[in-house]
Amino acid sequence: MFCDARRPCIALPGPEQTRRYEFKVLPGEDEAALLADESVARLLADHGAAAGSEIVRKTVYHFHARIADRWGEGRVWLAGDAAHLSPPFAGQGMNSGIRDARNLAWKLAAVAGGRLGPGLLDSYPAERHGHVAQMITLARRMGAIMGPRTRVHGLAQRLGFRLLSAWPAARSWFAEMKYKPPPRFTHGFLAASMLARRGPVGRLLPQPMLREGPHAGERLDALLGTGFALLGVGVDAGASLGARWDTLVERRVMLPVDAVPELAEHAGMLLLLRPDHYVMARFTPDAVARIIPELEALAAATWT
Ligand SMILES: Cc1cc2nc3c(=O)[nH]c(=O)nc-3n(C[C@H](O)[C@H](O)[C@H](O)COP(=O)(O)OP(=O)(O)OC[C@H]3O[C@@H](n4cnc5c(N)ncnc54)[C@H](O)[C@@H]3O)c2cc1C
Repeated sequence: MFCDARRPCIALPGPEQTRRYEFKVLPGEDEAALLADESVARLLADHGAAAGSEIVRKTVYHFHARIADRWGEGRVWLAGDAAHLSPPFAGQGMNSGIRDARNLAWKLAAVAGGRLGPGLLDSYPAERHGHVAQMITLARRMGAIMGPRTRVHGLAQRLGFRLLSAWPAARSWFAEMKYKPPPRFTHGFLAASMLARRGPVGRLLPQPMLREGPHAGERLDALLGTGFALLGVGVDAGASLGARWDTLVERRVMLPVDAVPELAEHAGMLLLLRPDHYVMARFTPDAVARIIPELEALAAATWT
């Protein structure tokens, strides 16, 4: 990133020795003139591109920060850019759209298949809206950093980043975008009584590689399947969750902690996972009877 007040620029490495450059079009600038070969060559040369690089595509685009008021009505639902638009600075526009699709697809399948009621679809915007808004805010902040108001401001920023990059932890925090908030649902189709600020309910379960046993070397997601799953970490996952949930849950998986040390914090627990592998509920085997009414009410509410 070139945090340059005169013309902010970002140069992103891509696959197969490609690189994407983005430059700000300045007020009053002629877009066609800026896209002329000589002008593009000058911009690239000023920002470290190899001489004679092949230009695959060049275009001027406009971006927005917008979220639709409603994401669905009746049988029509919006996802991706149709539901929200993000400035490109955080590189999260398509990521957000993929998260939407992952959230919506299994719900549409469950409703179309008659396994859960159409009210389930209301949880889609309820769960996705907050994170989309966070990502757009992040993109706007990153845009503000990349486009400093004055040259002094830009110089101070570049110096600050250079100093920070000498510290490996800070470097990886920025380079790997560790400041990017992970999605976390605070309401939606999950056991609300089990939500805790730092707890796993409402968060995506990590997908470690299994370390030992007959499935060693496989990804946890492959074992969990594409429907609801009950995962016992070091405990049996055979417990009945009541007639409705026993039908909804397609896979029951018991894994010793040694096979998934990444999930050691859940040792002795049962995790009820949605088809998108977000944690819906977490409980001990002896608490099963207590949580059945909450799960039953959650499923029943989708029909009202
Ligand atoms: C310069 C730039 C850089 C970006 N960089 C990143 C990045 O690094 N990372 C990232 O995650 N995101 C990035 N994005 C955002 C990303 O490109 C979009 O979020 C993503 O392409 C949106 O996908 P979509 O399928 O929702 O919509 P679109 O890609 O807009 O697809 C919609 C499709 O529907 C078609 N269509 C429209 N109307 C109809 C109709 N009536 N009937 C049939 N078809 C129709 C359109 O032709 C289009 O093909 C960037 C965007 C820009 C502009």
